[in-house]
Amino acid sequence: MTGIVPTKSQRQFWEKAARLYEDEIHEAAGYLEARGITPQAAAAARLGYVSKAAGRRHEIFVGRLAIPYLTVEGDVVGFKFRCVADHNCKEEGHAKYLGEEGAPMRLWGVDAFLEDSETIVVCEGELNCLSVRIGVGVPAVAIPGATSWQPYWHRLFDGYTEIIVVAHGDQPGRQFARRLTKGSRELPPLPNSRAVHMPEGEDENSILAKHGGETLARLIWDVTESEQSTS
Ligand SMILES: [Zn+2]
Repeated sequence: MTGIVPTKSQRQFWEKAARLYEDEIHEAAGYLEARGITPQAAAAARLGYVSKAAGRRHEIFVGRLAIPYLTVEGDVVGFKFRCVADHNCKEEGHAKYLGEEGAPMRLWGVDAFLEDSETIVVCEGELNCLSVRIGVGVPAVAIPGATSWQPYWHRLFDGYTEIIVVAHGDQPGRQFARRLTKGSRELPPLPNSRAVHMPEGEDENSILAKHGGETLARLIWDVTESEQSTS
């Protein structure tokens, strides 16, 4: 099991794994190119490909894209693994994303908090977050899934004058953005936040891949298409 504060040997394993997988990123080059993820952005995020597992507990991730979770200091503290095969994962009977057993819920891309910016974008999913960084050039972080928001993450966003929460063009995406910007029974609204809606059936990455960064940027900055938070 992986605690919230990993041991030294866990960290060493993750670092070793990240290096091994980074060296194999060429195996996922076609996938990344088709998704509009530039080699520079992939390298900065230390994306990798699991040709060979770094250890026995990573054997089930062979053939997947490795997405490391990095601390603000750049230490690897875990991974998500995405299937990059050209098929419908559901029909194949497996999950599009797999994580390590017992991994705690973490925000991805927390280096964004170090950037000198009054604006930050909150995305659902790591590759969507990368897409915003590539296409819009603004600091962005990702939550691992639409229902994974942790209340203590609120205070990480103190001091921003504009927090843009991107809603995917589906029901869970819209609910997530609404809950964050308007608040819910359990959660106060995120101050200075507004929701931005992707077109029906789309997310940040699909927009970037199909239409390019300018279209994605227009959607992100379009205030008339978004809902302001009440605070
Ligand atoms: Zn698959």
